[in-house]
Amino acid sequence: MGERCSAEDRDQARHAETGGGVMRESAALKARRYIVEARLTINHVDGRNVSAHCRGDAAIYTLGHDGQSWHCDCPARGRCSHLLALGLVVVLEQPTRSST
Ligand SMILES: [Zn+2]
Repeated sequence: MGERCSAEDRDQARHAETGGGVMRESAALKARRYIVEARLTINHVDGRNVSAHCRGDAAIYTLGHDGQSWHCDCPARGRCSHLLALGLVVVLEQPTRSST
């Protein structure tokens, strides 16, 4: 069937759109691998507070959301692959619907 279609092509197209984020792409792929390999452990989710652990290549990192911002104690700055992995399974910014 058409199974060997173009996931790669599509990713490359996405790169072109976003102006080429190769490192970003690899972090996203890593994040997915962490999920697939069950490296991410979520300890606590409560409203906007999230605490989790992620087993990286050499260490287990503590990460989460403190109600205002994301944090991770790995050496990477900004949104690391651990936080991306967490973001794949935790949704904090829920659309606030005023359903009456
Ligand atoms: Zn991290």
